[in-house]
Amino acid sequence: MRCPKCEQESPEAAQFCLKCHHPLSFVCPACRHVQDHGGQCDQCGVDFMKYASYMIFQNKTQVQKERERMKNRNSMVKQLVLLPITGGWSLLKYLLKKGQEH
Ligand SMILES: [Zn+2]
Ligand SMILES: [Zn+2]
Repeated sequence: MRCPKCEQESPEAAQFCLKCHHPLSFVCPACRHVQDHGGQCDQCGVDFMKYASYMIFQNKTQVQKERERMKNRNSMVKQLVLLPITGGWSLLKYLLKKGQEH
């Protein structure tokens, strides 16, 4: 496989030029088809850049959702942790009040 940039001969399997690291083969992120140019997949027609930004967008919303869930879980855990404290405190207050009455 010859590099289109510097004419260096590289093995067929090489993804980047051995000399200038110019990409020699592009793997479609959608169907794993390997081709010698970027842009659009010859097999499924997916636009590499569009697909990449779409995947990043998907990841972002996934992370956001996960973060939201963690926040909810954290507040629930906090409530569970605080429950015996607040509950114990009001019980203590109740007992103190009772003790004062006597
Ligand atoms: Zn090269
Ligand atoms: Zn493809």
